[in-house]
Amino acid sequence: MDVYMDNNATTALNKEALDAMMPYYTDIYGNASSKFYRVGRDAEQALYKMRESVAKSIGAANVNEVYFTGSGCEADNWAVKGIAYANKRKGNHIITSKIEHHAILNACEYLEKHGFDVTYLDVDEHGFVTPEQVEAAITDKTILITIMTANNEIGTIEPIKEIAEVAKKHKVIFHTDAVQAIGHIKIDVKELGVDMLSLSAHKFHGPKGVGALYIKNGIRIDNLIHGGGQERGKRAATENLAGIAGMAKALEIAVKNLDKNAAHCKKMRDRLIKGIRDNIPYCRLNGPEDEGRLCNNVNFSFQYVEGESILMMLDMNNIAASSGSACASGSLDPSHVLIAIGLPHEIAHGSLRLSVGEDTTEEEVDYVIEVLPTIIQRLRDMSPLYEDVEK
Ligand SMILES: *Cc1c(COP(=O)(O)O)cnc(C)c1O
Repeated sequence: MDVYMDNNATTALNKEALDAMMPYYTDIYGNASSKFYRVGRDAEQALYKMRESVAKSIGAANVNEVYFTGSGCEADNWAVKGIAYANKRKGNHIITSKIEHHAILNACEYLEKHGFDVTYLDVDEHGFVTPEQVEAAITDKTILITIMTANNEIGTIEPIKEIAEVAKKHKVIFHTDAVQAIGHIKIDVKELGVDMLSLSAHKFHGPKGVGALYIKNGIRIDNLIHGGGQERGKRAATENLAGIAGMAKALEIAVKNLDKNAAHCKKMRDRLIKGIRDNIPYCRLNGPEDEGRLCNNVNFSFQYVEGESILMMLDMNNIAASSGSACASGSLDPSHVLIAIGLPHEIAHGSLRLSVGEDTTEEEVDYVIEVLPTIIQRLRDMSPLYEDVEK
């Protein structure tokens, strides 16, 4: 059996989304900025339709509040740096959390080297930030608050609507990285009350290398990418029409099937959590128990073993998973998210993320539950620390 349980890292491209992309590689190859001939105008009109579709899917009031980008990382970087530089006369203070994606954290660290102050809010043992914490951190210099909708490692869903209210009360711009949330919880930018929101197609069965930033009308933001007049002069580069078409279609499908897919993922997730707990001693579920957890995320720490060794042995059994975040793996540092929720380094190192999807079957979950306890036991048998525990 071949099992893919790394849907928080990326997802397979939806077949319908692929079909929606193909015409823009073949017939409608025009540059959407070339208005003097038909194939260019066709591209321009198609682009408008796609923007309209994405705007509708996220509940934006206006079509022109959707700006296409080359990735979720770009959308995050643009939100942070673009707001910082556009508002630096008003203030230089940014509020974020310690468990954001590195796209946000590293953009903030960059700004710290250029005269900005950043408050990185602590989270509780499940990864939650509270609106009260955010409010207490606001100063008269605060120009941006950015808190993720859902965490990519431990699945914590933050109280975005309440934080947006706090931001609005203090007239501070609020951005949320909703890359992991789309397709798993309902996202409506008006209902949430956010000023900006990032998304990325490949996390909801769209193509890789395309994302979007929602920017509410009236928000002043500097460019990240300078050049031509695309995206209303805010983001230069010839539009990736095929990619955008795939994203728009994948998003439509994700929104349409949201309830059904979320219910299925949750069932698979809970079966996996129960199976692991029933069969493996000395394990700890990272992230919230049920309420406030992404429907497709499972993250466990196993004492006395090493995350990378688990991944290697899972791979030998044709199971694809992740230890913490894909970006962090490859480095020796333990996950910043697991450290932020208070795990000691040695326990953070023994962590495993299994993220299910719409296509995950009960058979696949049961196969993982069958294989994983043996793997953990074999690794523990090799560990000198575990020998002491056994005694
Ligand atoms: C994947 C991810 C990103 C980055 O998106 P890319 O399109 O891969 O650049 C940003 N934030 C979160 C929470 C993510 O999970």
